[in-house]
Amino acid sequence: MNFEEFIYKLPKVDLHRHLDGSVRVETIRDAALEHGFNLPTQDIEELRKYSQVSPDCKSLTDFLKTFDFFYEFLKFPDVLERIAYENCEDAAIKENIKYLELRFAPPLQTRDDFTEEEVVKSVLHGIKYGQKKFGIRVGIILCLYRYHTITEEQNWKTLKLAEKYLGNGVVGIDLAGDESKFSVLNYKKFFEYARSAGIPITCHAGEAASAVEVKHAIELGAKRIGHGTHIYEDENIMKLVRDNDIALEICLTSNIQTQVVDNINLHPARKYYDYGIKITLNTDDPSVSGIDLNYEFQLAVKVFNFDLNDLRKIVYNSIKAAFLAEEEKSELISKYFNNSIISS
Ligand SMILES: [Zn+2]
Repeated sequence: MNFEEFIYKLPKVDLHRHLDGSVRVETIRDAALEHGFNLPTQDIEELRKYSQVSPDCKSLTDFLKTFDFFYEFLKFPDVLERIAYENCEDAAIKENIKYLELRFAPPLQTRDDFTEEEVVKSVLHGIKYGQKKFGIRVGIILCLYRYHTITEEQNWKTLKLAEKYLGNGVVGIDLAGDESKFSVLNYKKFFEYARSAGIPITCHAGEAASAVEVKHAIELGAKRIGHGTHIYEDENIMKLVRDNDIALEICLTSNIQTQVVDNINLHPARKYYDYGIKITLNTDDPSVSGIDLNYEFQLAVKVFNFDLNDLRKIVYNSIKAAFLAEEEKSELISKYFNNSIISS
């Protein structure tokens, strides 16, 4: 078995994947045509250049520009349902992912009379059929959003939707958006509400902003951290993450493309792993980044020299940190990973 085959065959988990960053080019084209938008070309390979950066992209502007290109095409029930369904297919068939958590911010997908709740229902519908057809388990995370166009009222609506659909497709909430301008501390009351309602919390933190955002997120109740790339700046925060069993949702290629880390050899993932922090490997925005989870695992092996046991441990970390009931985690482990996921 060659290296690529081996990585493919390893049963995997992705805990950090944005629905709107995981869209096939064909779907972007069809959505535009069906809903009356103009496209610069209908050629798939040409369209790919507008909707995807190359894996070695190092420009935040280019990265964000790709979202602008197709974002308006997504705001329709049929398109969101299709994207959700295709995410199940791609993850199960192309990446051998056994459990996937997909996230999105409902207010970013609304239009005219297409409401936040209808957005959520469309995605859940696609997931329902995709899970059944492709034998993958998928959980939805609804993202509160830090951005000047997103109002407090909209974030409350997202949180209430998470509460309403928790256990019926939704598994938790996230706080996404621009952490360099909006500290997690501004969202304290949302976190308090989520905790009292028993909604699991993850939070983008320490990606574009400093380690202290990670500390705040943990103190407010986050059980996982999206990225946490900057925690190396403060050993006390590394210790806080490790000692509280907080899993880091590492997204290697994304961190390079958005210039959070200058180059992959400087990425702190291995340092965190050796320190005893529970790291997980994820894709963030696979179609925009031009990668998948196989690619990220291969990259991690090449750069950090992880061996089979390390990879198994990383997948095991993901399962343990998944927003699933303990019995569902045990079921996943016994079904796909046996008890040999960590060999001593
Ligand atoms: Zn993300």
